[in-house]
Amino acid sequence: MSFAESSNYFFKQAAKLLELSEDTITLLSQPYRELHVQVPIKMQNNKTKVFQGYRVQHSGARGPYKGGIRFHPEVDLDEVRALAQLMTWKTALVNVPFGGAKGGVSIDPSTLSESELEDIARTYFQNISHILGVKRDVPAPDMGTNEQTMAWMMDSYGAKFGHSPGIVTGKPIALGGSEGRTAATGYGVVIVLKHYFQHMAQDLTKQSVAIQGFGNVGMYAAKYLSELGCKVVAVSDVSATVYNENGLDIKSLENHIADGSLLKDCSEKNILDRDAVLSLNCDILIPAAIGGVINSSNWENIQASLIVEAANAPITPFADYHLQNRGTVILPDILANAGGVIVSYFEWTQNIQQHWWSLERVNQELEKMLNDAANDCFVIQKDKNVSLREAAYFIGVQRVIEALELRGFI
Ligand code: GLU
Repeated sequence: MSFAESSNYFFKQAAKLLELSEDTITLLSQPYRELHVQVPIKMQNNKTKVFQGYRVQHSGARGPYKGGIRFHPEVDLDEVRALAQLMTWKTALVNVPFGGAKGGVSIDPSTLSESELEDIARTYFQNISHILGVKRDVPAPDMGTNEQTMAWMMDSYGAKFGHSPGIVTGKPIALGGSEGRTAATGYGVVIVLKHYFQHMAQDLTKQSVAIQGFGNVGMYAAKYLSELGCKVVAVSDVSATVYNENGLDIKSLENHIADGSLLKDCSEKNILDRDAVLSLNCDILIPAAIGGVINSSNWENIQASLIVEAANAPITPFADYHLQNRGTVILPDILANAGGVIVSYFEWTQNIQQHWWSLERVNQELEKMLNDAANDCFVIQKDKNVSLREAAYFIGVQRVIEALELRGFI
């Protein structure tokens, strides 16, 4: 099953519950628009290299298209298509006034110099700029991109269309970015977890946690969980899993990776192989890296009774089906990792109003929006006797359908 077929699988489950017509299913299982552009760059050795870039706009029914731009070697049209659709359901579920989109360039940023990356960011953005706009499509960071990438992109757009801070979110604060945006996805994961434990009347601080991926999302999730008192027993990156059954010192690991060092070289004693993190003995597993990491080959080895999808689509439909049958609870991506796009929305409104929010206000409103979305999921989960993923998709799809009906599309 391709990545795009996987995201359609979850959409079609919701479509069945909502009794959508075949025409409506066709409308929403395909993106509205797909753009594939060449990104030709003069490399440092003076040779021209052509990279492939994409921007897929899935649905604009609820507002401007919204979603990140990924710089990663595995980026292709199929992946971007799947991730664009996920954004549509995510923005609808958390009720921010956006549609869904995603973009990416197929590159390995670790092999490129800073100035090559800058050229790629600027050229890619210029080449897709005719379908973007502050009220049309607003990109943001994703894997392999960060606030510096957004600054270059904003600048290249401004050169052509005039100063437009609201054209991207996830910018540096000095260029109109929002307080709290960098930490928002990881922080949001912890808000959702806290709220879930409250809902279940259980104590989160007694849980042991393993986190796959120690980038912007995994690292902040680890930091806030350990500050809450949870035992973060394992974290991993591309090089290794670091394990300590008594709980890792997250601050020292954060310092260790600050200069780009890999986890395999840290001072912890127990260094295991990269994928060991998924099958360790722990209460909560948080995949916070790429898609499809929990699949038919490894779902049976997972010991955690709760999985929180901090990454987008880390569990394939096959693994999802078997894990749910076995009773493993899954907090789905479109809820668990929505903190990033929620604070993107706050950033966009601040850019339009040219009025700045404090970190306290950002975090308070973020917590309220995530808790409201989680509560909506808990209600549907109970009413319809479905999983939390099915509940989350049900709500997201229903809101998009309502907008399409009111606009007269269906
Ligand atoms: N890339 C993030 C996501 O997958 C954030 C998107 C945004 O802020 O627009 O949700």
